[in-house]
Amino acid sequence: MSNLDTHPEETVCRTAADDHAVAQLLEPRDVPLGGLRGIHVSRLLPQRGLPTVGAWCFLDVFGPNNSQMSVLPHPHTGLQTVTWPIAGEIHHRDSVGSDVLVRPGQLNLMTGGHGVAHSEISANGGEVLAGLQLWVALPAERAGMAPAFEQHVDLPVYAHGGVTATVLAGTLGEATSPATVHTPLLGAELRVAEGSRTTVPLRPDFEHAVLAVGGPLVVSGVEVPSGRLLYLGTGRSELMLSAGRDVRAVLLGGEPFADELVMWWNFVGRSHDEIAAARADWEAGRPRFGVVHGHGGARIPAPELPAVRLTPRRRHGR
Ligand code: MN
Repeated sequence: MSNLDTHPEETVCRTAADDHAVAQLLEPRDVPLGGLRGIHVSRLLPQRGLPTVGAWCFLDVFGPNNSQMSVLPHPHTGLQTVTWPIAGEIHHRDSVGSDVLVRPGQLNLMTGGHGVAHSEISANGGEVLAGLQLWVALPAERAGMAPAFEQHVDLPVYAHGGVTATVLAGTLGEATSPATVHTPLLGAELRVAEGSRTTVPLRPDFEHAVLAVGGPLVVSGVEVPSGRLLYLGTGRSELMLSAGRDVRAVLLGGEPFADELVMWWNFVGRSHDEIAAARADWEAGRPRFGVVHGHGGARIPAPELPAVRLTPRRRHGR
């Protein structure tokens, strides 16, 4: 998906699960993606004061609705994109030659690196479309790597008590995703069964966050309403999950990301000049981003750069 919003505003609410552990309940922002039949998304990351969870630097939730996704070719740099449909199918084409349908339960991981372009078009007629779009920031030494695309249709599952987790990235319990990531990372879709109360093991050196999807759940003593993200910090060895009815949740985690990132439009970098160069290359149609076949040359133009220099997003306390 393309990020058409270049003036984010975030609000942060704080709560406390206990005296020691971090637990911040974060609000989404409603962001129109533009276009005549464009869709609105709920943006959970980045947040003011919390640009990343591990290397996860972007989290949008879309649907459920009957809108069609129609995102023409657009570029990415310095990141990996994860498209995770919950309902509906998306036709993905990119400039490394991929031409695939993205289906629920399947991981589609595109690595932008030095430069890639892709399109995402609904492939499900008038059916309901819902899902997640996530970005993973590449570490500085990999940010300029060659672009790539992976599709994983048979992901490992961690099941314990009333929780069933499909592991997108990293390891949960004994289940390890085959997805290629470049920093210590965790991503999983959890299904928490009605009336269950169970624990999920965590790495204490990772920071974590949980998004509730389609219903509320209680995470280590904190009620998380549907559509909110609970940031949990580092230092936890497990999560306690309970739900009054069947709900879905997304668990994100990773080693806290050291670099301060400059994020603008669909580019992730480390300086204004790097982002400005990527924008100029896209606008000039330079070969850096390749060609997405099947659109007759149609593409999304980059917005104008703001009048001021882009600056890194910083964490609270830095
Ligand atoms: Mn995209």
